[in-house]
Amino acid sequence: RAKSSGKARYVIFDATMRKRAINRLSLEMDLRHAIEQNHLYLVYQPILELQSGALIGFEALARWQHPEHGLILPADFIPIAEETSLIREVGRWVLREACRQFAPIFYQTKHIRPLVISINVSSRQITESGFVEYIRETLEGYRLPPTCLKLEITESALIESVDIARHVFHQLRQMGVDIHVDDFGTGYSSLSYIHRLPVDVIKIDQAFVQKLGEDEQSLEITRSILHMARSLGIKTVAEGIESQQQYLFLQQMACEYGQGYFLSQPMTIAQVEDFLKSLKDTPSAE
Ligand code: C2E
Ligand code: MG
Ligand code: MG
Ligand code: MG
Repeated sequence: RAKSSGKARYVIFDATMRKRAINRLSLEMDLRHAIEQNHLYLVYQPILELQSGALIGFEALARWQHPEHGLILPADFIPIAEETSLIREVGRWVLREACRQFAPIFYQTKHIRPLVISINVSSRQITESGFVEYIRETLEGYRLPPTCLKLEITESALIESVDIARHVFHQLRQMGVDIHVDDFGTGYSSLSYIHRLPVDVIKIDQAFVQKLGEDEQSLEITRSILHMARSLGIKTVAEGIESQQQYLFLQQMACEYGQGYFLSQPMTIAQVEDFLKSLKDTPSAE
């Protein structure tokens, strides 16, 4: 009996593996067409200033509406794109689409408060030739100032290619595009090391933020990241704020910015436009 169930398990495992391999291969082929067929789209999560509650901008997050498999999240297709040359196409599409959709928003709001747009870039993109030029041309094409664009790169990706990152980031900084280090605290680096790169903002990983008030260690880690960032002149965004308690903790610790489901879910561009309209329609308290 033990033997047969062992065998059954083996067969199931084998079938799952095969299914996964096929899926991956067919997903890779589908992804090649997803851009042309308009199956990729962006959602936008608001980033707020924690003291005032003011909106400062949005992070663009990629989504894939697959005709057969439904919604696919970036965790399931960005790695596929990264393992193939597709990340170049996907990355360029994300930049173009974010600029195209953000440009009218920027021009509508810039007299009140110039909003910013953050996009995620993978380490494979920063090492590709023509990366900086493509950003410059795209911004010019949509008449957006470089100061409205923030590029998010994960701490782990940064450490992987630190020499190239240093060079590329310097060029971007000269242009006026800021670098934000994503998922900070998970990549085993230290802030003093990050500081040797031209980095403007770090984003505290949601793993720490979500445990604020529950777990003493996360509180201490968050506190020390904030303390060191402040002494190095680096601003901080807290990611994944899901409760009022977490929000209040971060406000008390004087973390500058935050995002998360407690503040707002990521929104479609239509929802963003409605949201901005409702802000404009509301008489200001001042
Ligand atoms: P990230 O850049 O750290 O983005 C934050 C992720 O946390 C997003 O997941 C967002 O939807 C989610 N999130 C926001 N608030 C909360 C919250 O309160 N609670 C929880 N549990 N989650 C929250 P998403 O959209 O699935 O993206 C996952 C990751 O995929 C991103 O992490 C980013 O590293 C990557 N990614 C997303 N879009 C792109 C892209 O256009 N290009 C590249 N290269 N990577 C992307
Ligand atoms: Mg990000
Ligand atoms: Mg993150
Ligand atoms: Mg992440």
